[in-house]
Amino acid sequence: MGLAKNSKRQIQGVGASPGIAIGQVKITDRSRVAIHEEYLSASEVPGEVLRLIEALEQAKDEFVAVREQLAEEHGPEHLYVIDTHLMMLQDSMFKREALALIESDAINAEWALKRTILKFRDFFAAIEDDYLRERVGDIEIVGERVLRKLVGKQHESLNNVHSLSLVVAHDLSPADILQIDRQKIIGFVTDLGGKTSHSAILARSLEIPAVVGLERITSEANDGEIMIIDGSAGIVIINPDEETFREYLKRKQHYEYIDRELAKLRDLPAVTSDGYRISLKGNVEFIEEIPSLKEHGGEGIGLYRTEMLFFNREELPGEEEQFAHYAAIVREMAPKPVTIRTLDVGGDKFVPDLNLDDELNPALGLRAIRLSLRKPETFKPQLRAILRASALGKVRIFFPMISGVVEIRAVKKLLEEAKLELQSEGVPYDRNIEIGIMIEIPSAVIIADLLAQEVDFFSVGTNDLIQYSLAIDRTNEHLANLYEPLHPAVLRSLKMVVDAAHAAGIDACMCGEMAGESQYLPILLGLGFDELSMNSISIPRVKEILRRCSLAEAEQLVTKALTFRTAEEIDGFLKSEITARYAGSFD
Ligand code: PEP
Ligand code: MG
Repeated sequence: MGLAKNSKRQIQGVGASPGIAIGQVKITDRSRVAIHEEYLSASEVPGEVLRLIEALEQAKDEFVAVREQLAEEHGPEHLYVIDTHLMMLQDSMFKREALALIESDAINAEWALKRTILKFRDFFAAIEDDYLRERVGDIEIVGERVLRKLVGKQHESLNNVHSLSLVVAHDLSPADILQIDRQKIIGFVTDLGGKTSHSAILARSLEIPAVVGLERITSEANDGEIMIIDGSAGIVIINPDEETFREYLKRKQHYEYIDRELAKLRDLPAVTSDGYRISLKGNVEFIEEIPSLKEHGGEGIGLYRTEMLFFNREELPGEEEQFAHYAAIVREMAPKPVTIRTLDVGGDKFVPDLNLDDELNPALGLRAIRLSLRKPETFKPQLRAILRASALGKVRIFFPMISGVVEIRAVKKLLEEAKLELQSEGVPYDRNIEIGIMIEIPSAVIIADLLAQEVDFFSVGTNDLIQYSLAIDRTNEHLANLYEPLHPAVLRSLKMVVDAAHAAGIDACMCGEMAGESQYLPILLGLGFDELSMNSISIPRVKEILRRCSLAEAEQLVTKALTFRTAEEIDGFLKSEITARYAGSFD
């Protein structure tokens, strides 16, 4: 049980979508339905199978109706979320398993469904990859909806609330989020969920403040209580005292002021005070993120991670499905450019249908381009799909985890084959499509001059480059303090890459997380990067600092930074310089 009503409670969760919202609690019944478990006689089994099929159909009809409503209100870009749910209700392993259990174990439909949900949940929970693990949410959403049909419980509408409501729920589905009436609901909090769940991603792209993973918020909060959500810090405060209330009201106003000021930068060029232009683009994994990217002034997509299309499914997407998907992204972004990265799975990014062996050392294993080259039957359709999408707008293609010249030449050979095939089939594509490589393996840094002869651009993946250069597993929380973007080895590597790119006359881009952290901007500018690609929300802040920097000063800063011997010294130096030169009203 929670504390008594009216006492102040503060709970820490996961900040899923930034922003501060202050409103009234509305508990929404999205909790699990209670079911009874029953053994059947043989004669009851067929009737029970039919009952489950009927409930699956009814749930499907409901999702179809939601889909239609969404298509009308939001257009096509969010529909794939509902399509994932519909797929599960149609001919999926999930459905087949539940139906088979009624027959094999002679149990009632609710029980069979519950056991199937639990089985799939355990399977996903054991997966290391955050994104995949959180796909368990899709199973629960669909399962719950069907269970409600079986026990005859209605799915309550979220929008049946007063204005300034903050929804408190056990979990919310992406469909729930998409249907939120923004006039009434100003934020939400849930017991379940993580940063990379579909719901969190949607909340970010729709800019609804949200905190998830609070575990027991549905039992802590009571209907009608005043609640504060700080979606940046992941904090929820129920029944704030007057001082806390005023403090957060002030923070909310400040946050909104900064947002408004930064929004003014949207259409201003990303240019330094001495006229040096850098392209600021967005990293995108879902088409839903594109409106937010445009809103934040992104000049295109600098990294489109295609692996999301391959996760969570029984059969890999073929050329047609991939083409439809890439085409939608390219059309949605046009005339701005889209940089599509070919599949980067393997290692800890697991795709069941690729039948990968367990590896002792997955980060150094059969991953990314190594896997694509090993499986041309998967790689070729992807290359063809991307090439076909290039006829519809400005597309660049690039390849993850390139370690040497032989690899990129093998890739280019396959790409040429794909082009020739399309040409002979009379299928259009951009004959001048630019090709690039991720620079994220130390060997690629060391031979950057050789690789620069092979491609049109480099994009530095600092997430992996730091991991491999410093031998620090990027997912190991015990090593987090050793993961140093300002390590002299990293800075020297970045310099080698940019210098090699420019000597060969090609662009040096960065799409690792370092690109979006505004404190590093003066360094990246001084090193000479031509393009930085980051999560959309970071773009205005990076642009704001960029517009106050001069290239000449940043170059001096880098020259000095490169003389230090430790990350700590460089960090200290940077901080003092930033405070002295660039600090302003946006901190
Ligand atoms: C990187 O490694 O920096 C990168 C952008 O790719 P990913 O995070 O997808 O490995
Ligand atoms: Mg990488």
